[in-house]
Amino acid sequence: MNKRGHVLNAALLSIGLGYVLEPSGDVETFVTIAEVSVPIVLGALFPDVDTAFGRHRKTLHNLPVLAVFLAYPIYFSNLQWVWLGVVTHYALDYFGSRRGIALFYPLSDQEYGSPTGVTTSSDRAEIVTVVVTAFEVVVAIVLVHVLPQYVPTEAMQIVGLAAA
Ligand SMILES: [Zn+2]
Repeated sequence: MNKRGHVLNAALLSIGLGYVLEPSGDVETFVTIAEVSVPIVLGALFPDVDTAFGRHRKTLHNLPVLAVFLAYPIYFSNLQWVWLGVVTHYALDYFGSRRGIALFYPLSDQEYGSPTGVTTSSDRAEIVTVVVTAFEVVVAIVLVHVLPQYVPTEAMQIVGLAAA
């Protein structure tokens, strides 16, 4: 997906996540959207840095890179939510583009994609982006409002889905 698609995805996901975390629709919701949107947009832009440094869809499009962003809030108490920007970038490249990404790079060069993908220049790219984002918001609803009854609070705190 191109930069425009990744920013659209991250902005829509931030709005959706704001409502998932603070469903009231009042000031709390908008503060939450403001809180999550900057890190998510930053994280969503990050993986394509490998168009300039490294091998595109490989060097910064893999699970070890995601693990680094997941670890940051745990070890350094910063970069909360940037991991979700990285996740949503991978999801959009995986589900929304034809080529796919090398999830296990540098262990494997194999690129994984999904048959739902379109070429990044396709005029269906934006509708695919919106559909992928809607799917992500549904996943967020399940993680925040359904799963907590079944998942230990500590695990939810680690990924930022429960208050510490
Ligand atoms: Zn990408």
